[in-house]
Amino acid sequence: MEYELIMVRFGEITIKGKNRHRFESLLAYQIKTALKSFPALTYEKTLGRLYIRLNGESYGLVGDRVKDIFGVLSFSPVVKAEQSLDAIRDSALELISGLTPAPKTFKVSVKRAWKQFPHDSVEMNHLVGSHVLRNTPDLKVNVRNPEVELKIDIQHENTYLYCEVEKAAGGFPLGMNGKAMLLLSGGIDSPVAGWMAMRKGLVLEAVHFHSYPFTSEQAKEKVITLAQRLAYYSGKIKIHLVPFTEVQTKLTQTGHDSLIITLMRRYMLRITEKLAEQTGALAIVTGDSLGQVASQTLGSMNVIGRAAALPLLRPLVMMDKIDIIKYAETIGTFETSILPFEDCCTLFVPKNPAINPDLDLVERIEAHLGEEMDQLVDKAVQETETLILREEGISQKAEQKEDEWF
Ligand code: ATP
Ligand code: MG
Repeated sequence: MEYELIMVRFGEITIKGKNRHRFESLLAYQIKTALKSFPALTYEKTLGRLYIRLNGESYGLVGDRVKDIFGVLSFSPVVKAEQSLDAIRDSALELISGLTPAPKTFKVSVKRAWKQFPHDSVEMNHLVGSHVLRNTPDLKVNVRNPEVELKIDIQHENTYLYCEVEKAAGGFPLGMNGKAMLLLSGGIDSPVAGWMAMRKGLVLEAVHFHSYPFTSEQAKEKVITLAQRLAYYSGKIKIHLVPFTEVQTKLTQTGHDSLIITLMRRYMLRITEKLAEQTGALAIVTGDSLGQVASQTLGSMNVIGRAAALPLLRPLVMMDKIDIIKYAETIGTFETSILPFEDCCTLFVPKNPAINPDLDLVERIEAHLGEEMDQLVDKAVQETETLILREEGISQKAEQKEDEWF
């Protein structure tokens, strides 16, 4: 069956009023942006729905892209019929007889949103079902467990018929809920946390701390590849590459080995906040998951989190590693994440990292580092290299002026 039209259903149906309008127009914009490599497509918008007319583009390819767009709850290939019993019956028969393999059982489920339509949904189930049965040998009705459920949606302007519902990413359209910084390491967790934050409508700017030349060029490339994968979901992403070697070296000189990760994380947050001031981001997203390593105990999270005034969002905090890995595989970051290149923190990992760091002590150590450390922090911010990664894979130096969307 050659489909002509895709019906797109929106996510987060609980939002109301003005926000609803913003949701729908932002989503329409994001859908068109994500599908710009299919030039023949045209769009029809009705209340609460969007229809994509294929005009010869492949349903399979367009559908594959639509399923990854945030804010899209589900979609269906549909047939559109005029508002008359005959037209609906003809389309129903055409749709059922076009299915391969031909189903042996079916049922009809009519929903009548347009109450002026002369037959109610119960009558329609019967009127359409009997017509299809009469004209399709070997087909039977099975109300309980049909092979195919033919759904007929009588809307105000037209009637839509379909048999399949494909699940999409859900959540909010990108940009609906503002901007956040993503602490992106080369590991498994932070790219998943980033995807989850984007799914909730946050535009992200990634921040990666590297300790070049102690960490390799490949380690940096690996993180860029991960960010590039995130750019597939968001169209593009900015990544800030922060030179962290001098700050780290200074921290190792304090002689407090077991607190080194705690201290490093606190400085990462401080630097990220300075970058956030420049970008207007209002939160910091991390891949922390409770109890996973020493820096992710409640005690550590408490002491580390206090270094930042911005809210810390930890989408994975209550998740099990095994489930995080499943997400990483689904969103296409796992293979890159498990490449062996070292992270800046693993290089400095002490034998016995504190699982319950002492806040007072940490604050005293930091006070002792004085102005010299403030200067190193400012220098790291100044020497941060920013790239814009686009879905198509072209990366370039960020320009001064903010471009297009946000
Ligand atoms: P991940 O798989 O995301 O690396 P992890 O389980 O290895 O997480 P940690 O290495 O302790 O845990 O890092 C916890 C979080 O701190 C990461 O999820 C990430 O958000 C942030 N982070 C760690 N290292 C870096 C880095 N080099 N640059 C930016 N953020 C980092
Ligand atoms: Mg890590």
